[in-house]
Amino acid sequence: MLERWLKESSYTVVFTGAGMSTESGLPDFRSTKSGLWRTKNPQQLASTYAMQHNRDEFIAFYQYRIRTLLECQPHIGHTILANWQTRGLIHQIITQNVDSFHQQAGSTNVIELHGTLRTVHCSRCRQTYDAKRYVEEQFTCTCGGFLRPSVVLFGESLPYDAFEQAWTAAERADLWIVLGSSLQVSPANELPVAAKRGGAKLVIVNMEPTPLDDWADLLIHDRKIGEMLQEIDELL
Ligand code: NAD
Repeated sequence: MLERWLKESSYTVVFTGAGMSTESGLPDFRSTKSGLWRTKNPQQLASTYAMQHNRDEFIAFYQYRIRTLLECQPHIGHTILANWQTRGLIHQIITQNVDSFHQQAGSTNVIELHGTLRTVHCSRCRQTYDAKRYVEEQFTCTCGGFLRPSVVLFGESLPYDAFEQAWTAAERADLWIVLGSSLQVSPANELPVAAKRGGAKLVIVNMEPTPLDDWADLLIHDRKIGEMLQEIDELL
C-alpha cells in the first residue's frame, strides 16, 4: 500500500526521529529497553538549566553523544531516502535528529528542527566550530565565551525559519510519513497533526505506540525502519 501511495502522492514529507538512527548504532531517547532517558534525566542534562548550573554533567553528556556520533554512519535506510528524493518520490525531509545523517547519505532539502550535533558555537559571539572540539576538551571560544552544542536544548525555542518551513510543508503535504519518533516532543509533534488536518495521509512507522496512532492511515509497529524501507524500495 505504501509504495502505491508514494507513487500517487504529489508532495510527500518524511518526518524522522531518533528511531531513524538506532540502526546506525546511535541510541534514541525513549525506547523502553535502550533509550538514553532510561538512565538519565533530560532536564538535568540537555537543558538550558544544565548548561548554566550543571555544566560538568552537561559537557560530559554532550562529549559522550558527540563521540558516539563520530563513530557512527548513516545506514541503508538513509541512503534509500536520499535515492527516493532524487527520483522525486519524496519532496521534503524534516528531521528532529541532530546527527545530520540524511545529508551525509546524500539528501538535500533537509529541515533540521532541533539543530545539529556536528558543530558547537560560542554562546557569546556565535562563532561556529567543528564539534570535535568537545572531544578534544576545548570548550572556550577565542573571545572567552562558552562553546555549546548547536542543538536546541530543553527550554529553548526551535529555529524560527526551520519551523516555519516545516509548517508550510505540513500544509502542502498529501502524504506524511513518520519514521522512528515517539511523537512526544512538542512543538515538532504538532506537524503531523497539521498535515493530517490539511488532508494528508498519515503513515507512522515506529516500534512502540505513539499518541498519534489513532490518527494514522497506516500504522507499522513491528518493523525496523531500515528493513521496511528496503522492502518498499524493491516494490517501487
Ligand atoms: P524518541 O527517542 O522519543 O523516540 C524514538 C522512537 O523510535 C521510539 O518510540 C522507538 O520505539 C522508535 N524506534 C527506535 N528504533 C527503531 C527502529 N529501528 N525502527 C522503528 N522504530 C524505532 O525520539 P524522537 O521522537 O526523535 O524525540 C527525541 C528527541 O531526541 C529529538 O528531539 C532529537 O533531537 C533527539 N535525539 C536525536 C538523536 C539523533 O540525532 N540520532 C538521538 C537521540 C535523541
